[in-house]
Amino acid sequence: MAEHFDILIVGGGPAGLTAAIYARRAGKTVLLLEKEGFGGQIASSPRVENYPGLPAISGAELADQLYSQAEALGARMELEEVQRIESAPAVHTVVTDYGTYTAGVIILATGMKHRKLGLAGEDTLKGVSYCAVCDGAFYKNQDVAVCGGGNTALQDALFLSGLCRSVTIIHRRDELRGDPILTQQLRETANVRFVLSTVITELFGDASLTGLTLQNLVTGEVSSISVSGLFEAVGQMPERRLSESLVSVDEGGFVRSGEDCVTSRPGVFVAGDCRRKEVRQLTTACADGAVAATAACRFCDKSH
Ligand code: NAP
Repeated sequence: MAEHFDILIVGGGPAGLTAAIYARRAGKTVLLLEKEGFGGQIASSPRVENYPGLPAISGAELADQLYSQAEALGARMELEEVQRIESAPAVHTVVTDYGTYTAGVIILATGMKHRKLGLAGEDTLKGVSYCAVCDGAFYKNQDVAVCGGGNTALQDALFLSGLCRSVTIIHRRDELRGDPILTQQLRETANVRFVLSTVITELFGDASLTGLTLQNLVTGEVSSISVSGLFEAVGQMPERRLSESLVSVDEGGFVRSGEDCVTSRPGVFVAGDCRRKEVRQLTTACADGAVAATAACRFCDKSH
């Protein structure tokens, strides 16, 4: 028979882990399923400087601490990929690549996945990466590029500037989306340069990336640069595979809910970046985790 939990959380990022902490503190049995690695996106952030009370901490360390806190409270956490969720009024059946579980309540905290540029060779060439912290060391003393103008791109570029010979930031507009404080730091870093109003039109290299073809969107000028690494940081998309068959999602695939994290399906709650909302930050992910877990616990208590 499938093992049963009061609350089953899908996704082990800050939202899911915070939900696990709150649900365990409320005395519920909790299973958290994560398909890749605990900590979500934050685990690959070189330095987190906007989490209140922790002026500077590496993302990996923060992720470890969240995991340890949930574990110490008795949350069961497994690295398993959820294949499907079958929902009946009082019980949800969750099928993973390892087994089947049942739960009274589901919290979807499935986060986001990397957007891609859609260029030939993106998935096959060695040298294309989505994580500077994970892969940056492979490009020590080499020339690399970062594509994107948001905080992820800027943070990645700062991190890489400490390892690589040169870092070229390629952004499609002449204005950066990320925080001015990061832009300022980058402008003061000698081995970083900005190539603005420009898109990458081609990746070249045989098995490994050797360079990029660029097009300036204002002048139309085409040029090329030699790099051995390209770090794509062009934003995220919600993981919609599980959610769209279960609950109401918007046109972008984000789960619709109120600020109470209640979805269109009774007994299913949502937390973190996969929720339709204005501000997607570590703090709001954790806040969602707390709100969703509180609503989930209330739902469990009413159902008993
Ligand atoms: P983001 O803010 O959505 O930025 C994505 C960047 O990629 C934008 O500059 C965008 O250009 C560009 N882009 C999108 N599609 C593109 C395409 N097809 N071709 C070329 N460029 C493309 O994503 P993010 O940087 O991953 O950040 C996501 C969220 O996490 C944000 O809210 C961010 O503030 C937050 N975050 C915060 C921190 C922190 O320490 N505070 C760190 C990392 C992330 P346009 O600007 O022209 O749209």
